[in-house]
Amino acid sequence: MQTNSYDCLALFSGGLDSILACKLMQQQGLRVLGLHFCSPFFGNEEKISHWEKIYGLDLLPINISREFVDLLTQGPPWGFGKYLNPCIDCKIMMLKKAAAMLPQFQARCLISGEVLGQRPMSQRRDALNIIQRDAGVKDLLLRPLSSGKLPVPAGLQDSNLIDFRQLPSIQGRGRKDQLRLAKEFQIREIPTPAGGCLLADPESAKRFSPLFEHLHPPQVRDFELAKVGRQFWSEGSWLVIGRNQADNARLLELVQEDDLVFKLADRPGPLALARQSAEQWSRERIAEAAAFMSTFSSKVSRSGEPVAIRVGCKEQVETLEVIPEHRPDSRWREPQLKKPEG
Ligand code: SF4
Repeated sequence: MQTNSYDCLALFSGGLDSILACKLMQQQGLRVLGLHFCSPFFGNEEKISHWEKIYGLDLLPINISREFVDLLTQGPPWGFGKYLNPCIDCKIMMLKKAAAMLPQFQARCLISGEVLGQRPMSQRRDALNIIQRDAGVKDLLLRPLSSGKLPVPAGLQDSNLIDFRQLPSIQGRGRKDQLRLAKEFQIREIPTPAGGCLLADPESAKRFSPLFEHLHPPQVRDFELAKVGRQFWSEGSWLVIGRNQADNARLLELVQEDDLVFKLADRPGPLALARQSAEQWSRERIAEAAAFMSTFSSKVSRSGEPVAIRVGCKEQVETLEVIPEHRPDSRWREPQLKKPEG
């Protein structure tokens, strides 16, 4: 960040539309600060300095993990999209946060890269109206990419801050107009259209689903764990098995006081983490999980011989000898996508 004073605050996801919205404002000589919201599901704080450099923007990361997880667990008032994405409430939350920050930066308006009609849930005209109304930003929110298709915000009508005639009228799902604008602004690194929100991705959403059912309520750290390795559930018990060294290292970073860590005693292999959220696991369940995780070592699995597994939490570690349990017979199941009941 170069300064503490800006003309507008922008929602900056790192997607092309948010970049262009900022560039359109800069083109008119406005000072723009992009707010990059981060949670377990979206945002990439590590890319901020790279984006600042290549796009010529000032950016500020804002962590909304706690509030966002609360929104998910309490049930988003406007519901979920196709998967676990509560897009309307997500936008409302971000815009409320951004509006509350306006005085801090002496900024006068908010910018969002939303495009009318681009997304079925959150960018229909009625949804855009709901978002600006419920966030309380109707008079000062500008969507520069679709500006010509939307009413001029009342609070900006008489100001000479923005020349609305210069702004585009993009509408719909295509990307042609955005790519043309990107060329005009000489943007060389064009993000892929996927967006990168894990809640809108079916494979990631599957991982999060059981948390709503079995943890009361799930915490930010649980969603972080659900992103790692292979996920398995058995009657409400949760076991995560590393696929590689990076997963194993991440699991060790995420260990909590009551978690059980499983490790092959005398050879390299996967690490597994069991989160005992509601109750302590029985001896039988621990042995069952140890037998199951051992099969993810190909050597152990091939031999079928008894194997020693170190299991424990903190200083209390013991060694169990188990027979590798072959996966088709296992009670451990991969999670399925199921939307939480709202
Ligand atoms: S896709 Fe994810 S980040 Fe984007 S609006 Fe929806 S919930 Fe929010």
